[in-house]
Amino acid sequence: MTIENSRNLYKEAKKYIPGGVNSPVRAFKAVGGDPLFIKRAKGAYIEDEDGNQYLEFINSWGPMILGHAHPVIAGAVEKAIADSLSFGAPTSREVHMAELITSMIPSVEKVRMVNSGTEATMSAIRLARGYTARDKIIKFDGCYHGHGDSFLIAAGSGAATMGVPNSPGVTRGTALDTLIAPFNDIEAVKDLVRDYAEEIAAIIVEPVAGNMGCVLPENDFLQDLREICDQENIVLIFDEVMTGFRLSEGGAQERFGVRPDITTLGKIIGGGMPVGAYGGKAEIMDFVSPAGPVYQAGTLSGNPVAMAAGIAMLEYLKGHPEVYQQIDKTTEKLETGMRRNLKEFELNYTINRCGSMISLFFTDLPVSNMEQAGRSDTELFGRYFRAMLDEGIYLAPSQFEALFISTSIGDEEVEKFLQAHKTVLERIR
Ligand SMILES: *Cc1c(COP(=O)(O)O)cnc(C)c1O
Repeated sequence: MTIENSRNLYKEAKKYIPGGVNSPVRAFKAVGGDPLFIKRAKGAYIEDEDGNQYLEFINSWGPMILGHAHPVIAGAVEKAIADSLSFGAPTSREVHMAELITSMIPSVEKVRMVNSGTEATMSAIRLARGYTARDKIIKFDGCYHGHGDSFLIAAGSGAATMGVPNSPGVTRGTALDTLIAPFNDIEAVKDLVRDYAEEIAAIIVEPVAGNMGCVLPENDFLQDLREICDQENIVLIFDEVMTGFRLSEGGAQERFGVRPDITTLGKIIGGGMPVGAYGGKAEIMDFVSPAGPVYQAGTLSGNPVAMAAGIAMLEYLKGHPEVYQQIDKTTEKLETGMRRNLKEFELNYTINRCGSMISLFFTDLPVSNMEQAGRSDTELFGRYFRAMLDEGIYLAPSQFEALFISTSIGDEEVEKFLQAHKTVLERIR
């Protein structure tokens, strides 16, 4: 297998684009090797610029839940394009989209469309601050909410802390307003709420974390967050950019039976187009301009082509609830097979799974927060990743990601994955 064309493109790209990529994880820095430049994809397979084909487990980081170039989505986009790409004026598609979202996620009574997950989370915390007239937010170590300044904050020392900037360019002032607790640690949350009484506008959480690898909420963590927020008049934000329309039609909140005040969405909601959304209780959403005083706008927001893709995706999912049984079953088969392979080689690595989100952590210890995820052998993961790529399996290039399963992955593809997994484990152990 040669990747000459990808290598040359990467060299060229680095001359004109910082690091050669438009989003850092694509550069394969965490796993070593050169990134693949992608030419096309169809169904469960993706093809690079050298004509190599790989079985797809990134799926654009989630949106391609129906596999690539699905005719229903592609057809809707083609039809929309003929009527012009953008108006910057209201359209019937936006109404349709909002109706669809609110019908699928009952906690969302009103919704505002934006252009990325980052925009959704940034806007959601501004709204929570405006609504509560408080400044601070609590986030959890290892949860990713996009690249907004307020979220690029690392935990300080100690369990529950005031954060410190983890990117140059984020001001110390911003960091002071972001408090950090370990995921699944309700006592740490209680400590922060006690220490900063009446100062906390919002708690934002990935209800099932996908950005430290897949980590599930444990011991009624989400229910307890709901309770604390109710007691203290804090806005509870579920960042469902990854879990929304993946863990069920109604996202993680449906699966776990907990209603947030605001939900942020992205990824699947755009069917592959750049789309995000935030929505929730009407009383809170009516604080957003022009209904209310909290400013938020977007020249391309609710873009007709993006809405066409999103509507096609959501209508498909709504009309085919069996999608969720299918992808959950597929992922369960992956889990069972991976455990069998691990056992055969007497390896005891940790597998976390929730529905169609699954991660293999190269550690023998359980993983229920970032600190524990961080015990994984990332060097070993890098070798696993590169060897899997050689076997034709395209995984997210980081230990701290989940596999993204699409409906295009059937029994044959599961077998192919598990065979590669076995070959690679034997080689790298
Ligand atoms: C991907 C992701 C985001 C960021 O979305 P972008 O569209 O990349 O800005 C935010 N939150 C979660 C949970 C995500 O998985």
